[in-house]
Order: sequence, then C-alpha cells, then structure tokens
Amino acid sequence: MKQIKKTFLLFILMATFLTACYGNDIPQVFDSGTAESITGTGLATATASTEKDAKPKGDASAATQGNTDAHQSVASPIKPGQLLKTHFLDVGQADCILVELPNNEKMLIDAGNNEDKDTILGYLDSQGIKKLDYVIATHPHEDHIGSLDEVIKKYDVGSIYMPKVSSNTKSFEDVLTTIKNKGLKVKAPESGSYLFNINNTENKLIARFLAPNKSKYEDVNNYSIVLKITFGNTSMLFMGDAGALSESEIINAGYDIKSNLIKIGHHGSAYSSSDNFIKLVQPQYAIISVGKNNDYGHPAQSTINRLQNAGIKIYRTDELGSIIAVSDGNTITIDEKVSPIKEQAPPAVSKQSASDSNQDIIVFVTKTGTKYHADGCRSLSKSKIPIKLSEAKAKGYTPCKICNPPQ
Ligand SMILES: [Zn+2]
Ligand SMILES: [Zn+2]
Repeated sequence: MKQIKKTFLLFILMATFLTACYGNDIPQVFDSGTAESITGTGLATATASTEKDAKPKGDASAATQGNTDAHQSVASPIKPGQLLKTHFLDVGQADCILVELPNNEKMLIDAGNNEDKDTILGYLDSQGIKKLDYVIATHPHEDHIGSLDEVIKKYDVGSIYMPKVSSNTKSFEDVLTTIKNKGLKVKAPESGSYLFNINNTENKLIARFLAPNKSKYEDVNNYSIVLKITFGNTSMLFMGDAGALSESEIINAGYDIKSNLIKIGHHGSAYSSSDNFIKLVQPQYAIISVGKNNDYGHPAQSTINRLQNAGIKIYRTDELGSIIAVSDGNTITIDEKVSPIKEQAPPAVSKQSASDSNQDIIVFVTKTGTKYHADGCRSLSKSKIPIKLSEAKAKGYTPCKICNPPQ
C-alpha cells in the first residue's frame, strides 16, 4: 500500500514537472487523472471522468485569480505588430470560425455541416494550419459539429471544449469516436472561466466563457458556448446558436459584454439578438453566418431591423462569402475580399464557360463528394475519378470552392 502511495506521489511530481516544462504539448498529462494535483495552479485541467463529463476545474480557479494565465500554452508572448485575425468561413447554413490569435495560437469555433468537409479542410490548409490549439464545439447540432471529426482527424489538436449535452445523431457519435481514438478528452467550460488570460501592461489577450450559465435547457441552442475574446482595446463576441434566454442569463451574470464585433447568435434567428442584449454589446459590426435561401428563413427581418436600427454594420456570409475581421489591438477592420471561398462571387472562368468546347474538359470527382475538382486539388487525395465537365454538371456535381475548376 505504501509503495503504491509512493509511486502515485512520484507520478504526480513527474506530471507536474513535465507540465511545467512542456505546457500544453502534453495534454495527456492533464487528462489522465492528475487533474487534482495541478488544480489551483491556474492551469486549465480536466478531470479523469468520461469525455462528456469532463470539467476544467483549473479554469474556474483561474477565473477567480484574475490575472493568472488560465492556460499554460498562452505563455508565448505577443510580439508587437501581431494581429488577431478571425475568419468566418462561408459554410452555407452553418458556422465555422477560425481564429488566429496574436500569439500565433489557432482556435476553431465550430466546424460546419458534414458536407462542408472539403471547404473547411481546404480553407485551413490554405491558411497553413497544422495545429488547432483550441477547438470549441459550441453545441452538438450538425451545422456546428458536422465536419469536426474530419478536422480532429487531420490536425493536431490542443484542447477541445464542448457543453455538457449530448445528441443521438451520427455526427455527434462520429465526433466523440474521433476524439476518443485520438486519445483526447473534452472539457466543459464553466461560465465565467477563462480559456486564457494574459493581461499586463504591454498587452491584453483574454478569452472568457460567458455561457452556458445553466446545466439544463429545453432548447439545445441555449447550451451554446459563448466566448468573448479581447485583444488590446478590441473585443469579439461569439454567440454560437444562443437564444434570448441565454442572452438574458449572460446579462444577469453581470459580465462585461461590450464588444466591437459580434457573431450573431443562431444565424440571425428572430429569437436571438434581443434588443437588450445588443444594446449592451454595442457592436460596430455584426457577422451573420447563414446560407442563401435557407429553409429556416434566417436571418429574420426583425433581427436585421434591430441591428440596423442600432446603427450596426451587418456582414453576411450568404452575401459576401467568407469574411475576415482583423484587429491590431486598437481597431477592427473587415476584409470581405481575401477569402478563397466565394460562393456568391461570379465564377473566375465565366468567360470560358460560354464556349461549348470547354464542357469536354476533364475534371475530377471523388467517390463520396458532391463537388468536382481541377486536377491536383488537395481534396482528391482519397479518390480521383475523371469525368467530362458537362457530365459532372449533369450529374449535379458543383465546382469545388478551393481549386476553382472550369465551369
Ligand atoms: Zn446553427
Ligand atoms: Zn443549433
């Protein structure tokens, strides 16, 4: 018995030592039952419970400590001139947001529908992403976790955050299986806790969870993880699909929600972005991630009116394609034109498509995909079936947004 105790103590000592040395490079240590030993050091930790139940105790303690780095991996300094760059990917009626932090860490908030796999992986590749330090699945609806399994399979992943709610869909099961197979664990954030918190005289980089504030909701959307990222004097608020109920809970919790930019909740639904909430956020910019002519009637005209009446500039992915917001710590600028994905933009080769001979060009499709590709497109790594352009179109394949094949 004594021997076991000794071994255990040694293990904890080693784990603490390794953690101090390598930080987030060894998430296994955080997640293998040593959470208790490092709770209170301000490190983000997870308990050894099941994936769905894991809870970052360290985050809560960090939250009360204020200035402590809640996450060890955010020890990397922010060099002058670094930017916070947030990409709202055009994934149709869904959400997928890539956040490039000014300390070079990367975060992904949601991962579109199942069918957005090529779009999302292609986009992340085009941005040179190799590792996602933080993956946040706001809630288990398919339009938020659809391609998450593929993302987790492909890239190195630091920590994964999900609310404590499950779903009996295949998409959700796929995500959990992938997480398990990769030896990762899920953390359920506590409202008010910090994902990271660098706050000193030179710079300020903070990510704080503002919701969910309760453990039971009727509407799955209200389980949405809401995150506020602050960089210098600017901040961005990411609402997932949170509705008016969650918004009022956030207000009641007394958080500082004022933000320059808000990713509007629930694709601009009428039941999100309540007047009260928007008045307190006081954003300059509102981003709506929404599909053209979607079945839900999103965004609701009433929401658009509320935002416009408050003098907020609205940017919609169904109108602009992907949208990039860049903060230098003082100002946020919106770039609508840098995205390689342009669903609504005129096709780059529209002139060619006038000629019939163009339709005999050979393009490529995959066994399971719905898109056709130009030769050499990275989406063709698994299967590559040659097909005439005219035939591909007749069969209902649409051009890949990444490689931009002839149309
Ligand atoms: Zn949604
Ligand atoms: Zn939803």
